[in-house]
Amino acid sequence: MGQIELRQVSKSFGSVEVIPPLDLSIGDGEFVVFVGPSGCGKSTLLRLIAGLEDVSGGQVLIDGADATTIPPAKRGLAMVFQSYALYPHMSVRRNIAFPLRMAGLDKAERDRRVAEAAKVLNLTDYLARRPGQLSGGQRQRVAIGRAIVREPEAFLFDEPLSNLDAALRIDMRLEIAELHNRLGTTMIYVTHDQVEAMTMADKIVVLRAGIVEQVGTPLELYQSPQNTFVAGFIGSPKMNLIGGAEAARHDANMIGIRPEHVAVSTEAGEWAGVVDLSEHLGSDTFLHVRCEGLADPVTVRVGGEMGLRRGDRAYLSPKQGYLHRFDDHGRRLG
Ligand code: ADP
Ligand code: MG
Repeated sequence: MGQIELRQVSKSFGSVEVIPPLDLSIGDGEFVVFVGPSGCGKSTLLRLIAGLEDVSGGQVLIDGADATTIPPAKRGLAMVFQSYALYPHMSVRRNIAFPLRMAGLDKAERDRRVAEAAKVLNLTDYLARRPGQLSGGQRQRVAIGRAIVREPEAFLFDEPLSNLDAALRIDMRLEIAELHNRLGTTMIYVTHDQVEAMTMADKIVVLRAGIVEQVGTPLELYQSPQNTFVAGFIGSPKMNLIGGAEAARHDANMIGIRPEHVAVSTEAGEWAGVVDLSEHLGSDTFLHVRCEGLADPVTVRVGGEMGLRRGDRAYLSPKQGYLHRFDDHGRRLG
């Protein structure tokens, strides 16, 4: 079991309240991602769950039992950090087995668990090597192996891929998702990268300044962001947010439309404008169009190549049924 519940959990450092009282429920076997900008309290929240920080108020429940004052090592959780801090002088085998030695498990059991973890992580052929003889991705896998052998109730990952280059991050993202499929263990994964959140999570928790802005599946957040913060944070390129008279025309303080939900024409459309910038990715074309009557350029995503260039006239029309409306507190309308 790996069910985790936070009840009115809060955290202050001195007089600064970093996490106001917060409730959150994580089901057994779920892959939950905490996402939000740097400094919003993601690591702090994870550390409160792990017991590496004491809560200032509230309770942490693990499998229904109050774990608030239980020391980290006894919570049955395993944490994987961005800096994986392997022991350079030890072999991969000994690095992975390290927490088991500390826990006093006998050699036969240690060997069994290390062999199993190595198999899952494709590290079997590397067990005799030292960390210095591994690639960055392999090193991160060793760090994950060290967590797996503990057979935890839940894995806690704090930006584990941030030190890797872009291509490797994508590979490791798939590997961690695959690991979750195989093990079925609860995973809480912290990242500032909304693409990681969207691709890995069963459930995303969007945080801003220690406050939960929205909890939902990736598609719920994409399709029905509950406020302008989530609307702007989830999705790349960002959702266009338009205020002023155009929003008022839709009885809103702000309207939002995603770049992929704006149709472009060279003849006619709702918003007339001029291309300010065009980005040609081959697979997609991103146009930034300055439109009459709108304060900011509108970003448009067109599948494939579209031959419009800077200075060309373009007419934009939001696609029916894809317009988001927000009130003067930034909250979703309707
Ligand atoms: P994130 O992981 O989302 O980037 P953190 O949880 O690390 O954010 O930090 C949240 C806020 O708490 C930040 O403003 C940070 O400066 C502050 N903070 C974190 N740890 C401490 C600490 N030990 N003492 C004082 N302030 C801290
Ligand atoms: Mg952090």
